[in-house]
Parts: sequence; C-alpha cells; structure tokens
Amino acid sequence: MLRSPQPHDTMPAETLYALFVDELRDAYDAEKQLLKALRKMARAAQHPELGAAFTLHHEETTAQVGMLEDVFAMLELKPRGKHCPGIAGILEEGKEALEEMEKSAVRDAALVGGGKRAEHYEIAAYTTLVAMAKALGRRDAADRLQEILSQEIATDKKLDALAKQLLPLATREADD
Ligand code: FE
Ligand code: FE
Repeated sequence: MLRSPQPHDTMPAETLYALFVDELRDAYDAEKQLLKALRKMARAAQHPELGAAFTLHHEETTAQVGMLEDVFAMLELKPRGKHCPGIAGILEEGKEALEEMEKSAVRDAALVGGGKRAEHYEIAAYTTLVAMAKALGRRDAADRLQEILSQEIATDKKLDALAKQLLPLATREADD
C-alpha cells in the first residue's frame, strides 16, 4: 500500500536485501507489540493452562526480540523497528475479547482465536524472512530466523491442542 514517506524511512525497498531489512524491521516492531499484548492475554485467560501458554510465549517473545537483534548485528545494522500495521490490526481485533467480555471459557476461546491469528501472521513473516536470508546467502541470519519460526509454529500447535481442551468447557458454559 502506498503511503507518504516517514522521516525515519530508508529508501524504498528496490533490492531484495533492502526488502529483507524492511521486513526484519517490521518483524522487530511486531514482536514488541506482541510483548505487551501477550502479558494482557496471559492475565485475561481463565484457564490456567491457557494463561501459562501465553506467559511462556511472552518469555519466548522476549528472547525473539534478542534473536532479531542478533540478526541486525549480523548485518551490521542497528536494531530498528518500523511500525507493523498488520499485527496492530490483529491485536485491535483481539481487544474486543479483552475489553468487552467477562473472564470465561468463551473468552478463552476468543483469546485462542486471536493468538492463532497473531501466530499465523508471524509464521508467514518468518517463513518469508528465512527464504530471503537463504536467497541472499545469509545462512547465519536464516538459522537464527528459523529458530524464531520454529517457536511460532510450536505455539500455534499448542493453541490448537488447547482449543480442543477448552472448547468443550465453553459449550457447557453456554448451556448454563
Ligand atoms: Fe514472535
Ligand atoms: Fe508468536
């Protein structure tokens, strides 16, 4: 999407390397947005296992910010984020569940759905970043980014397993 240039912007991404750096900055900003959101999601969860899953992923996300800083260092760049409107939109959608619902099994179901939306966005972003790093011959960056990607995939799978456990509880709640 076209937008007016921001003062901190680099040149438009006209090379694969520039595009890669641009997407890296987008991911760095996304992780920082997710750090704040995951803390809220952990507190909002009713089921202790869902709360624990969000807390664990908050810790992983803290480490991911560090791993992205490693990648910036590998490229001899200062770590710098660039606002990620994609993840901001997903979090905005998830806010409804956080702000307009009571703590319940149904809200837990909404939290799982919001969490999965965020993970899928990240999986798409890191799959792309790993592929670009490899294409650019940056095996070092690709390996570090792959570590993050693996955590996002594992988190998504864990949310699926939790949904299987939590949705029957939400059904019962609706029957009351
Ligand atoms: Fe992440
Ligand atoms: Fe994640």
